[in-house]
Amino acid sequence: MIQHEDKRSTDLPRLAASFWFGVIYIENYNGFMNDLFWCISYLKKYNKIENDLPPTEETLRVLMNITMPRDLGEDFYLAQDRVLTSIRERREIVDVDDLTPFEPHLYLYKGDITCLKVDAIVNACNERLLGCFIPLHHCIDNAIHSFAGLQVRRDLMKVMEAQGYDEPNGKAKITKGYNLPSSYILHTVGPQVGGRVTPQDEEDLSNCYLSCLRLADSHELKSVAFCSISTGIYGYPIEKAAKVALNAVRKYMETENKNIEKVVFNVFSENDYEVYLRSIKEAY
Ligand code: ADP
Repeated sequence: MIQHEDKRSTDLPRLAASFWFGVIYIENYNGFMNDLFWCISYLKKYNKIENDLPPTEETLRVLMNITMPRDLGEDFYLAQDRVLTSIRERREIVDVDDLTPFEPHLYLYKGDITCLKVDAIVNACNERLLGCFIPLHHCIDNAIHSFAGLQVRRDLMKVMEAQGYDEPNGKAKITKGYNLPSSYILHTVGPQVGGRVTPQDEEDLSNCYLSCLRLADSHELKSVAFCSISTGIYGYPIEKAAKVALNAVRKYMETENKNIEKVVFNVFSENDYEVYLRSIKEAY
């Protein structure tokens, strides 16, 4: 006679595992929603907003964007960090160590810079250096501050207060990356191009790359990812900007570099990717 295994007994461990997995999932989800709700309430109060807002990640980003720089206290940063960590864990993070160089030390990568795991990413800022205050704006400054956390704005406020004047074009400042996959952020102001690119624009843009590399090198960082500085709202034509970027980085790596092993040119659109590919080919 064929012996039939008792299905109920073999399914039991699996059922128990699914049950506990479900419990942990619900607890994590509840924890996340509690933190999200708490951060939203805190920032609403801070910004004196009285109307109801939906308890969503987008609402939190809007409130973060409009919040003036100030120390918001440890409780806020801890709750915000738990929310942003959970958001980061759901995103597809790309490690610079998994990329293939197009020539020794140099990499081209198309994607969101806030998903790159690298020692430092470069942010294209305005002269106030405090991040973008326009809710959900599509600039890179907004994205970087929103995924990193409000500590970046607080830290930059201290840096700018100590400096006492707006950040000139072509210089760079460093902050921690906080909730980003990257450890640091290099903040630089590129030239705003109105019409024709002037020799001064070209020099300023080149200096952005050089200043960021010098700063990264002095902090003994090994990998840096540049966005395509000034080529968005600041209107620098991408073809010209790509050449300036490639020349500046190559020059630095050949003449000054001490610690940097990997430099990534991070582009965001297919068109910019094609332009970079052409510029790289033309250089040979
Ligand atoms: P700028 O004012 O210096 O022109 P922008 O933010 O408008 O700065 O754009 C700079 C570059 O960053 C543009 O090429 C834009 O496509 C790119 N960019 C915008 N968001 C991201 C992002 N999340 N990741 C990588 N690149 C981005």
